[in-house]
Amino acid sequence: MEIVYIALGANLGDREKNMRNAHGHIMRLEGIQPGKISKFYETAPFGGPAQPMFLNAALEIKTSMSPHQLLEELQRIELHMGRIRKEKWGPRTIDLDIVFFGDRIVEDAQLKIPHPLMHERMFVLEPLAEIAPNAAHPVLKKTVFQMYQELKTFHQ
Ligand code: AMP
Repeated sequence: MEIVYIALGANLGDREKNMRNAHGHIMRLEGIQPGKISKFYETAPFGGPAQPMFLNAALEIKTSMSPHQLLEELQRIELHMGRIRKEKWGPRTIDLDIVFFGDRIVEDAQLKIPHPLMHERMFVLEPLAEIAPNAAHPVLKKTVFQMYQELKTFHQ
């Protein structure tokens, strides 16, 4: 079992319900053990067209799945929940990203772990810092708390 951190985001429909549904679907996957979930944070959309505010959260699980199996399951949940994939960075019912998968580094056409922009995005780092401040980025060799503090300083 490896410890995995997932970033959840929603900015269409009943955002809170979508976040809870997605969490529920993830908990019902085979080969998953539940861990902490952060509060839901309301954040301004980043890039893309003018669109509603997001809710974002971070979730910790343990899993015996491989990174690609987990990606497939998360994409199945996104599709099942009716995510519209028309526009890059456009509005979405639910967005599920794998942020860390233990200390693995994955880089292929389908999957990049750690998620490449996580250290530049407050909406990933803030919820993650709440539940896993000491989790370490295997490439940057920094903790989530350090990355969060650095990004906060940068934004001031
Ligand atoms: P997006 O529309 O921004 O959610 O991007 C979805 C695409 O990102 C999918 O086709 C995935 O194959 C790819 N992807 C690459 N790395 C990751 C990751 N760590 N977690 C989730 N999706 C990823």
